[in-house]
Amino acid sequence: MSSIESDDFWSSLDGLMARAELVAQSFVWGLWNGITQVFAGEQDLGCVEWVTAGDDQVCEVCADNEGTYLANSPDLPEIPAHCNCRCELLIP
Ligand SMILES: [Zn+2]
Repeated sequence: MSSIESDDFWSSLDGLMARAELVAQSFVWGLWNGITQVFAGEQDLGCVEWVTAGDDQVCEVCADNEGTYLANSPDLPEIPAHCNCRCELLIP
């Protein structure tokens, strides 16, 4: 994770690169988790498990989302939950 504060994103090349990295990470995680969710649903695997990074930087929203959901359930929270979310969906 970058140490650049969000206010610095637009004021330097390092800030822009940190922003680009953040956007790319969010995109890749979102894509990966979407594939997992669709695969689990189409293969009738039943459930997916929301897993956080499990460290002291996990936010309250992600900690509350941790658990098992039916793959096609409307109760499954949107993932990533926020920018720089490090959570992933796993097939248990
Ligand atoms: Zn998260």
